[in-house]
Amino acid sequence: MDYLPVFLDVSGKSVLVVGGGTAAARKAELALRAGAHVRVLAPDLSGDFHEISQHERLSHITDPLEAAHLEDCIVAYGAAEDDDLDARLHELSKQADVLVNVPDKQQYCDFITPSIVDRSPLVIAISTAGAAPVVARMLKARLESTVPAAYGRLVSFLGGFRELVMERIADGRTRRHFWEDASDGIVADLLLKGDDAGAKTEFMRALDDAGSSGGAHPAGEVYLVGAGPGDPDLLTFRALHLIQRADVVLYDRLIGDPILNLVRRDAERIYVGKMAKNHTLPQEDISALMVRLAREGKRVLRLKGGDPFIFGRGGEEIEALAAEGIAFQVVPGITAASGCAAYAGIPLTHRDHAQSCIFVTGHGKDGQIDLDWKVLLQPNQTVAIYMGLSHLEDLLKAFIEHGADPAMPAAVIDNGTRADQTVVTGTLETLAGKASQSDLKGPALIIVGGVANLRDKLKWYRPADPVSAELAQTANAPVLN
Ligand code: SAH
Repeated sequence: MDYLPVFLDVSGKSVLVVGGGTAAARKAELALRAGAHVRVLAPDLSGDFHEISQHERLSHITDPLEAAHLEDCIVAYGAAEDDDLDARLHELSKQADVLVNVPDKQQYCDFITPSIVDRSPLVIAISTAGAAPVVARMLKARLESTVPAAYGRLVSFLGGFRELVMERIADGRTRRHFWEDASDGIVADLLLKGDDAGAKTEFMRALDDAGSSGGAHPAGEVYLVGAGPGDPDLLTFRALHLIQRADVVLYDRLIGDPILNLVRRDAERIYVGKMAKNHTLPQEDISALMVRLAREGKRVLRLKGGDPFIFGRGGEEIEALAAEGIAFQVVPGITAASGCAAYAGIPLTHRDHAQSCIFVTGHGKDGQIDLDWKVLLQPNQTVAIYMGLSHLEDLLKAFIEHGADPAMPAAVIDNGTRADQTVVTGTLETLAGKASQSDLKGPALIIVGGVANLRDKLKWYRPADPVSAELAQTANAPVLN
């Protein structure tokens, strides 16, 4: 992070704005809205000041800039678009220990001004550290259209009950859960649709319920959430919602940082990762841990790569919860086969090549390959193999030994949907050799079937993949990204 985000209390304090044009007027307006006394230093004020020039907290100074103008100021803006004046303002601000900002002149900036979405008292500030302000403005536009105008009212409404809730609910976590429910449930719904009285009734009812539990933790809950194959954009809305509500997160090695970073900062994180041969925490212990944490009243997030019910042992985990009477919910995720296929340009079914698709695990009990070959070798079928990278060569050989055509197309997708996705294509005969030259690290998915041939025609163009970039240029391939 290049800058420390803070919201400054300027109410009743002085802010100096140097300049009388449009940019100066915007800064002066903003400072006035935040309650500051604003000194505008400029020979003349342009028409942009007409709405604020008579403001009781605005004073217009026509004298040349001098140190006294910065006295008792907390912030100074240089908006005169005059190099000498900017340099002088910066120098005087440094002498007076005043924070200074001159738009577009980083050398004169102690801070930068974010793009803001104002739903006061709710304010969202966006910064790109000056690298691409246009992206910040684009995000601002999106937020302007998705954050309802009434959110400011919701924040004010909730803010009015802060002390009362503090008195009535002594336990910190119970209080946070109460606030989360109030901000996101029926109280918020009523308020956002304009029924303030109904919202208040519901709020007080919920507060009575929470307060009457005498500070005891209400029962916790487990969220078994599929996080998809890696690209955070592939999370479902529900997954994101629960990720941000959880008190404690149990995750394993399939969950990368981009997704883990979405977890609330103060949530506890517990790594329960398993490697194929190196079990960090036995399955029973993971289930027991979830039960214990939920009994403590926590919202326990069990994050699973892909979909929890596809080779994820999600079924076993909720069996244990059900047996112990712990509430849970399951959120499906995009499974590796779907994610990898889409990002590699390999349709799992295709009218001309595959009418069925079968998901199998290449990791049999005790490391033995244990597959039903009669089922796997059906014509016009795609086989997606999970957990097969470590014995890719044996697996592909076994296909041939059981009668598959050695020229059958096959592909391996390593770290599918992630920034470092690698796709290797070949045939049952050639793929293992090609893959061994590509330093694949896993997780990796193997796809066997005629559809693997379509990659060159259909692959998703990604700038980081020079081969596909070149192909996109020469073969007029679809550019989707
Ligand atoms: N529940 C998961 C699968 C867990 S088993 C799901 O639905 O996707 C773990 C296997 O999934 C890995 O060995 C690998 O075969 C596959 N896998 C998971 N994420 C992957 C990714 N990003 N790219 C390729 N394969 C992946």
